[in-house]
Amino acid sequence: MAMLTRSEIRTHLTARGPDQEELFAEARRLREEHFGPTVILRGVIEVTNVCRVNCDYCPMRRDNTRDNDRYFMSSDDILERAGEIQEAGIDIILLQGGETPHNLAAIEDAIPRIRELFGGRVEILLNLGNMRRGRYERLRNLGATSYILKHETSDPRLHETMRHESLDERLRCIRDLLDLGYRVGTGLISSLPGQTLDSIVDDIELAGTLGVHMCSVSPFVPAHNTPLQLAPVGSNELALNALAALRLHRPELLIPSVSALEKTSSGGQARGLVAGANVMTVNFTGETDRQRYLIYGKDRFVVNKQHVEELVRASGLRTRGSVFLDSDVATHAPVGTSGRLGSVS
Ligand code: SF4
Repeated sequence: MAMLTRSEIRTHLTARGPDQEELFAEARRLREEHFGPTVILRGVIEVTNVCRVNCDYCPMRRDNTRDNDRYFMSSDDILERAGEIQEAGIDIILLQGGETPHNLAAIEDAIPRIRELFGGRVEILLNLGNMRRGRYERLRNLGATSYILKHETSDPRLHETMRHESLDERLRCIRDLLDLGYRVGTGLISSLPGQTLDSIVDDIELAGTLGVHMCSVSPFVPAHNTPLQLAPVGSNELALNALAALRLHRPELLIPSVSALEKTSSGGQARGLVAGANVMTVNFTGETDRQRYLIYGKDRFVVNKQHVEELVRASGLRTRGSVFLDSDVATHAPVGTSGRLGSVS
């Protein structure tokens, strides 16, 4: 296992020119060594734009709830989208939405139905925020495989300032998820207003010590109608360097090339692959709900399958399915229900 020192990570974060090219080349070499020339494809369904949290950088924050055109997808709607993802040949269904208890019944109803649709051979990846351990356990037992819960920033004070939530509680959730046998993804935002370079080093170190399986790096995007709308747009170079440093620090992690990279710089997602990323997400949210899901404001960059496939091919790579499936079906039964994941279908 690689593991860089703090000063190595710090040096990588500021690399430019030939140093940066060398950093990216090493990140690509390590990706190749651990995953071959492949990029894992996910299909995302954005299940609701309602959130009880009030993150200063997010247009779906609680204070905007009244202004936003709210929606909750039903279990049937989710199933229909999952069917489209299956037809596209993708075996990872990412159910993503704001943190709210109001659509959990629909999610809980949909999970076993999605498993049945895929005959059990599907990774069900959730990104639905903080919950009590018992709720995570219930979702796991219904057939959820993996969970994204980004720590966002590892600086406890900055975390509290930006999210009005405690970092400790976020980390408690991540540890509960790991303990319950989920494959877990964390993630950081780079260039947050008030964030230092050392704080990003802390983020990378934290991702290395938590025991997670995935980690993303997103450059800060100032979104309209948020307290940070006038803050400067995040640096793509810093985000890409953080991504590459993460690959060197923990080569075995799944690291996505996120749409925020494209939002902050045209061609940014292709550069994410150049910097060592190995996951891309295709959007399958219906057109109307997609307009309402304001993650980076109304003019967000929506990633379709054709765009992803062209990008991956142009990078000399090929797409592939879930890396967790075989081991999960065989050995990672949910807590207290031995063999259940493999036999739900
Ligand atoms: S970033 Fe996530 S948790 Fe924060 S307000 Fe937006 S949807 Fe909610």
